[in-house]
Amino acid sequence: MLTLKKVETEFTKELAANGGSSAELCFQCGTCSLKCPSAKMMTSLRPAYIMRASRLGLKDEALDVDALWQCTTCYTCVEWCPCNVQVVDVITALRNMLVADGEMYENHKKVARSLIKNGHTVENNDKIKKIRKELGLPENPGTVMDSASAKADFDKVLKSTRFAQLVDQ
Ligand code: SF4
Repeated sequence: MLTLKKVETEFTKELAANGGSSAELCFQCGTCSLKCPSAKMMTSLRPAYIMRASRLGLKDEALDVDALWQCTTCYTCVEWCPCNVQVVDVITALRNMLVADGEMYENHKKVARSLIKNGHTVENNDKIKKIRKELGLPENPGTVMDSASAKADFDKVLKSTRFAQLVDQ
């Protein structure tokens, strides 16, 4: 249950500055929670509650680690929202705040480490390598690592966002 015990106006400003301003448009119809394929897996808050906590400035409730990392960013909520609330932008802004505080699900860290190491978020496995070989393809699909200039750009982005440090801080 949400309570108004800890409204933080600075939090709503920070959220808006980081791309989460459309939470203000939410009138709590609940469509996002109804349509969200992950909602029933979310152990705590669902998307509509996250939007409500965000727009009310309830920082502790909005920064709900489990619910935020259980979102798959599938955009179903955005497609269905009658108010054009950019739910994923709000969730992304909240996640960024979590990451800045060192709160990231281990599985997401795994994906991030794979991106840093291979230029691809999903590690290739032996089964896929075998199928690719049988199809006459190279064992691994091409990535940003195959091009010196693309790799240099990739490294620039990683460095400027402090990506590796944020993942393993
Ligand atoms: Fe649910 Fe996230 Fe998909 Fe929205 S983007 S419907 S919150 S899983």
